[in-house]
Amino acid sequence: MNFKNYFLNRFSAFILDCDGVIWKGSHVIPGAREVINILRENGKLVLFVTNNASLSRRTYAEKMRSLGFDVDPKEIYCSSYVTAMLLSGKVERVYVIGEEGLVEELELAGLKSVDSDKAECVVVGLDRGLTYSKLSKALACLLRGALFVATNRDPTLPTESGLALGAGAIVAALEAASGRSVDLVAGKPFPFMFELALKDWNLEASKTLVVGDRLDTDVVGAKRAGLVSALVLSGVTSLDEVQSAKVSPDFVLRSITDLVSLDLGHNYRAIRSS
Ligand SMILES: [Mg+2]
Repeated sequence: MNFKNYFLNRFSAFILDCDGVIWKGSHVIPGAREVINILRENGKLVLFVTNNASLSRRTYAEKMRSLGFDVDPKEIYCSSYVTAMLLSGKVERVYVIGEEGLVEELELAGLKSVDSDKAECVVVGLDRGLTYSKLSKALACLLRGALFVATNRDPTLPTESGLALGAGAIVAALEAASGRSVDLVAGKPFPFMFELALKDWNLEASKTLVVGDRLDTDVVGAKRAGLVSALVLSGVTSLDEVQSAKVSPDFVLRSITDLVSLDLGHNYRAIRSS
């Protein structure tokens, strides 16, 4: 099979994970901007997903623009926004462990960030200003039976100086203390993030490709949402890990540039694994 233009011919929408796919830390993956431009010039919809909940859609778009990506906030599905959509109309008063971007999205969706004694729901995201007091207040809410919601369960996040504590570790602390399990999770690998994007843009699942660098979040999440997935080797997952993993992406690519340039002339060939 000739893979040149294969992805352009087969798919009408591309849902791209960000870290490890279009950038790594503060460095843009070579060719990522150009690939996105080519996809758009060919009439394709390009959306962005990330479990990052510390920024809102608005501030995430600013970050992306500063890295040279021309993006509308509506094209971004960050877990702060997705959490707000998950809760919109279900609860009103929330106690938030999280950062400004999360609070901004919750309030835009009509939810109120309140003190723990007035909250009917605890929302937990990455909070780099986390304190013992905040955790204790959240625990009191949970012991009263408040809805327990997480932006994502990633235990760690990569930073320039190595791994840092992720939202999932904060969730785990509250699960241990409360003896409860989290009720709802917005981020990957739970499928809600992808389902929301499909619904908002009226996308056909069979013509939508998810591109990610992690098997346990991007690929598993895509499968749960009934979407085709491509794993790129430009992020955290190596080819050896792909080959020994239980979960198989539909495609394995060296990087996002293979979406528009791949043909059989390359040394490394796309692995179609299902
Ligand atoms: Mg990633």
